[in-house]
Amino acid sequence: MFRIRILRQRQDNYSYLIQSGQQVWCIDPAEAQPVLQLLQRERLQLVAILNSHAHADHCGANLSLQQASGCPIFGADQRIPGLTTELTTTAQDAALPFRVLFTPGHTRGDCCYLLTDGVETPALFSGDCLFIGGCGRLFEGSAAQLYQSLQQFNTLPDHCQLYCGHDYALDNYRFASRLLPDCREIRHQLQHYEERQRQGQPSVPAQLGDERRANPFLRCHQAALAQVLGCPAAAPVEVFRRLRLAKDQA
Ligand SMILES: [Zn+2]
Repeated sequence: MFRIRILRQRQDNYSYLIQSGQQVWCIDPAEAQPVLQLLQRERLQLVAILNSHAHADHCGANLSLQQASGCPIFGADQRIPGLTTELTTTAQDAALPFRVLFTPGHTRGDCCYLLTDGVETPALFSGDCLFIGGCGRLFEGSAAQLYQSLQQFNTLPDHCQLYCGHDYALDNYRFASRLLPDCREIRHQLQHYEERQRQGQPSVPAQLGDERRANPFLRCHQAALAQVLGCPAAAPVEVFRRLRLAKDQA
């Protein structure tokens, strides 16, 4: 069985350690020192690093960790520091317990990692593609591209756990509730994440089903959303484009 450990890094980043026995896989390490200390303290072996994309707050610790452990580094972007295996196919790499989903949009080389075997509930590590209550900014891709990337999650079950790359839940749901103040699901999520913050709890994991009911970026087919964004007859992808723009300007 895998155990998923959440590491808060930098200002609001989440890195993850996926542990089986004494072996760990590390997703998106930003800071090396806390990871190295934990490895040493618990005598864990770093098997591999997996990066969701090439931004420094997701792979800043790659080279230090690689130097200390000699571990391989996986990702879908050649710009990732220390990359040893570029992931190019969704077929599961025998060396990895994860499935890879290619999700360009935030950058052109984004991918997400899905863990389904060896866990009670499937876990999606979504990097800066899908956030709780939001989605990533468009740095290199188009709105249509990120919209398509997000559609890949439609086949995942409601009870799938969402582990994203930043703690933006409160900010995102505050924005969502300003946009759609009458939405009960959004209000409920906002209260939930305010409570978690009061208790000093991380926002992750969320349930994908809750996100489908409340996260406006997963609800671009909704008439109320199209209405409030001033495009009542628009296709969902256009609603998405306007929504992303509105969030950028919020
Ligand atoms: Zn990023």
